[in-house]
Amino acid sequence: MLKEMKKTAIISFVAGILATTAFLHIKDKLMEFIYPENSIRYSSNLTRQEINKNRKELEYILGDGYEERFSEKYNKFLKYKESLELARVLEKEGCFSNYGIDDYIALLKTGKSVELVKELESRFRADLCNEYTLLLNNGLPLNIIGSMDRFYVTNLAKDLKDNPIPEEFLKYFSFNGCDNSIKAAAHNPVLGADTKKIQEYLQNQLNKIEQIDREKSDYTENSSKISNIKNINTLYLIKEYVDYFEDPNNLKDITRMLDEDLNDPFSEHGGVIIFEDNKYNFKTINPAKKDLKNLEDNVSYKTPAWTKYVGCLGDFHLHATTEDDSEYAGPSMDGGILFGGDLAALESETDRNAYRMNCVITKLKGDKFNVDIYFKDVISWHILGSNSAYSTGRGIVLDLGVYDMIRD
Ligand SMILES: [Zn+2]
Repeated sequence: MLKEMKKTAIISFVAGILATTAFLHIKDKLMEFIYPENSIRYSSNLTRQEINKNRKELEYILGDGYEERFSEKYNKFLKYKESLELARVLEKEGCFSNYGIDDYIALLKTGKSVELVKELESRFRADLCNEYTLLLNNGLPLNIIGSMDRFYVTNLAKDLKDNPIPEEFLKYFSFNGCDNSIKAAAHNPVLGADTKKIQEYLQNQLNKIEQIDREKSDYTENSSKISNIKNINTLYLIKEYVDYFEDPNNLKDITRMLDEDLNDPFSEHGGVIIFEDNKYNFKTINPAKKDLKNLEDNVSYKTPAWTKYVGCLGDFHLHATTEDDSEYAGPSMDGGILFGGDLAALESETDRNAYRMNCVITKLKGDKFNVDIYFKDVISWHILGSNSAYSTGRGIVLDLGVYDMIRD
């Protein structure tokens, strides 16, 4: 019995010593945090002056409910010279839950507000934080980023590393890709809402223009059937193209672009068509890929991924690799309809803008060029796609005819 009592006393004594040690240890840790100038742990991240300067704020936070698990995070904020107040706000808003602190610092360094960080937290995937930061740094609006699925976020972020958005294009981003097209169509109410009237107008205009000899090209018929196209917006957008190529100043612009492309043996040239100053403008953009050693690449134009988010009528590119490219006139169907070429690209581009209308301009023998546009029929895509003049199953190809190059 006495033995047992001795044993209990010894155990109690040891337990008491351990408890006191643990208490002192915790107290030391707490003191280290409150008075960090004595601590090696904090001096590695902060200068003593910085700590003293922020002492009051630090004590305020501690008094407000300090949690050990956030100490490292607060400390990092101090290191990055962000205010403790901000760290406190973020913590209170629960902003430390999904992202890592470095992600927050990266986001805050873009100059964005706490509100934006909160919005990112609630709307987006935490694992894509680096990508979001990159998109924001490139000037992409939050609502557009929010509309992208994971595939586009990662794709675009990857592409932007090699192809940053030129400053002048930032203002053209549009949440709804077809905004610009429909706006422009509405600007042009001359022919009213009578589908037949617009069809007649377009057919008359096209009849005046010389048609390309299609014998060598992928397409077998010589004329497109405007009468097959029923959607009034589509018809008005075609009218925008037809009218564009009536203006000699625009033909001069295209001529200059063709000459530039002929002089570049490494890539085709192209860009986007943007509505500005009450008219459409063909704006050139450097190709996303251009290998200055590879002459084989002069058969394609790779559009940078960000152009998908620009509010435009569509994109354009030139087939101007030689003096006479007539055998490549019209959008390409390389590798079969399913595997590549200009028409396959249209398929992925129309998911944001069903009215997207792309254009390909082909250099012909002599000082001439051919214009083709290609698009989806938004009403009866499949039915019309397979019955239209240039049936591809992927899009309608409309030949706008042959034009003369104009130089000053
Ligand atoms: Zn092409």
